[in-house]
Amino acid sequence: MTAKLIIASNNAGKIKEIAEILGDLPLDCLSLKEAGISQEVVETGDTYAANALLKAIAACREANLPTLGDDSGLEVDALGGRPGLYSARYAGPNAGNAERWAKLLSELKDVEWEKRTARFRCAVALAAPGREPQVVEGACEGIIAFAPRGSGGFGYDPLFFMPDHNCTMAELPKEVKNRVSHRARALQKAKMLLMEWLRE
Ligand code: IMP
Repeated sequence: MTAKLIIASNNAGKIKEIAEILGDLPLDCLSLKEAGISQEVVETGDTYAANALLKAIAACREANLPTLGDDSGLEVDALGGRPGLYSARYAGPNAGNAERWAKLLSELKDVEWEKRTARFRCAVALAAPGREPQVVEGACEGIIAFAPRGSGGFGYDPLFFMPDHNCTMAELPKEVKNRVSHRARALQKAKMLLMEWLRE
């Protein structure tokens, strides 16, 4: 029988990526909705790891099933690391991507290319009934572009230029994003833990 794993998120882009990256494990990935969980956790932690744990532990308790929580954000050096933990709420609680991009581009309008360095960070927490929760992290370096480009990925991807690939994260084929992104790097470590859990 395939084991179930809840992905404690309501972000469709994130859930899709996580399910794809974990696709070679014998796991049936369920969204919060599919697991019958409607309440979203308030992100009160002061680190990505703390928020990822809050998400994973809350859903695991509610459904009594192994759960993966992901918390991620974009840190821009010229903004002292903002929006960071507040990346989702950066342009207000109801803003969409276009508003977040516009705000970021406007804050960086006088910042030259060399000073537009940034990184995505991702913490992935795993919680399961009767087990000690675990957290792993990944990061990915890039530069904030002068305008959005590309239609792949989600969130801030069209503004995140990756010099090694000479394109934005939204222009990368999904197989490549799923190998080199902050989330991919954290999930490669999480996979090791999940494989141990599956063996036991
Ligand atoms: P949260 O982890 O759900 O709190 O999301 C943080 C914010 O970062 C949201 O606005 C996401 O859209 C954005 N974000 C998270 N991961 C990615 C990514 O892989 N690419 C682009 N934006 C992302």
